[in-house]
Amino acid sequence: MNFELTHEHEMLISTVQAFVEKELLPYEAEVDANDCVPPELAQQIRDKALAAGLYAFNMPEEVGGGGLDYLSQALIERELSKVSWALHVFVARPSKILMACRDTQIQDYLLPCVRGEKIDCFALTEPDAGSDAAGIKTKAVRDGDDFIINGSKHFISHAGHADFAIVFAVTGTSEQNGRQRNEVTAFLVDKGTEGMVIQRGPKCVSNRGYHTNELFFDDCRVPAANVLGEIGKGWIVANEWLTAGRVMVAANCVGQAQRAMDFSVEWCANRSQFGKPIGKYQGVSFKLADMATGIKAADLLTLNTAWQMDKGTMSDGDAGMAKLFASEVLAKTTDDAVQIFGGMGLMDELPIERMWRNARIERIWEGTSEIQRHIISRELLRPFEAQ
Ligand SMILES: Cc1cc2nc3c(=O)[nH]c(=O)nc-3n(C[C@H](O)[C@H](O)[C@H](O)COP(=O)(O)OP(=O)(O)OC[C@H]3O[C@@H](n4cnc5c(N)ncnc54)[C@H](O)[C@@H]3O)c2cc1C
Repeated sequence: MNFELTHEHEMLISTVQAFVEKELLPYEAEVDANDCVPPELAQQIRDKALAAGLYAFNMPEEVGGGGLDYLSQALIERELSKVSWALHVFVARPSKILMACRDTQIQDYLLPCVRGEKIDCFALTEPDAGSDAAGIKTKAVRDGDDFIINGSKHFISHAGHADFAIVFAVTGTSEQNGRQRNEVTAFLVDKGTEGMVIQRGPKCVSNRGYHTNELFFDDCRVPAANVLGEIGKGWIVANEWLTAGRVMVAANCVGQAQRAMDFSVEWCANRSQFGKPIGKYQGVSFKLADMATGIKAADLLTLNTAWQMDKGTMSDGDAGMAKLFASEVLAKTTDDAVQIFGGMGLMDELPIERMWRNARIERIWEGTSEIQRHIISRELLRPFEAQ
């Protein structure tokens, strides 16, 4: 087994590190304090990401994207996450689900997203359907050449910046294993479509400046030509993308944890109490040892999972393990970082409290830790038909 990264991988890492250092980190404290990314800054980051060839690095080359394998994508995600999501989100990774675009959808949605001319958002979660995504209630009913959508979504990231939403709605039911199940369809719904209202959601403690929105649909008429993929097959496109997304979240967690550890090591070496650097006390230095061990394990697991995804051998459980483990290592690392910094760890003069707050979302979005444990344990029990 070869664990070595190639020269190209190393080059990719240093390119992204330089981008984060120069184009994103200088703005992090201000964006966090103001809970806002000024539009000019958002555009500047997009332009610079396009010029650097980083924009849409997750998309295949044939549509103008980076054409990178998943391992390379995970390495980029690891470095990008050393700054808040509020900023690195503008180095856009359009929803891979857009690869299901066909006919005029390719020119109208897919290609503009890859070129940085349009922005998408992914609208699945509803107030009564979070972990239980199959329980969504938003409905789309066929009416001639259109569908009429009614319902609502919440927690939809970045919808305030988006030109269109990928909206999941129930279009029917079918019987599976003796139970009635919702058939779900994905729709491309343009901002400004009559009957769709987008409003800012509640303020979130993590990633200030990165907002979620509520979407309301009241007899919103969408042409059938805007169905993404096949009618009733929304889960097929969504699940493939969501599973890959979990590995990228794991890579984000590793990067954030590495950043918190780097700050902690330096503080341990330079902060003295009782006449000695605090790193000389085992009560403190053992935390560093645990951080380094956890992060290395999370990094290896994540990169191995991305590599499996490239080989086509990754299971849902594998992706779940990477997301679960890396997000829990991140939680422990940032919490220990606050402890190592003492009172200063909680003050907004230093970025530690921000890292601690930003880490919290990672155990919730893209499937909570509990849901990842379900996915992993179900896979273990499936051969015994005991899941
Ligand atoms: C900042 C932010 C951004 C988001 N962005 C998006 C987005 O862009 N698009 C989108 O569609 N969604 C988005 N989400 C939604 C996110 O995916 C959900 O919050 C997440 O899936 C959890 O759903 P929930 O919040 O409704 O929690 P719930 O599902 O209500 O869960 C509450 C608690 O119960 C636990 N639980 C639930 N079911 C079980 C079970 N069967 N067994 C054990 N424990 C269980 C959960 O693990 C959790 O601890 C975002 C959320 C946030 C907070």
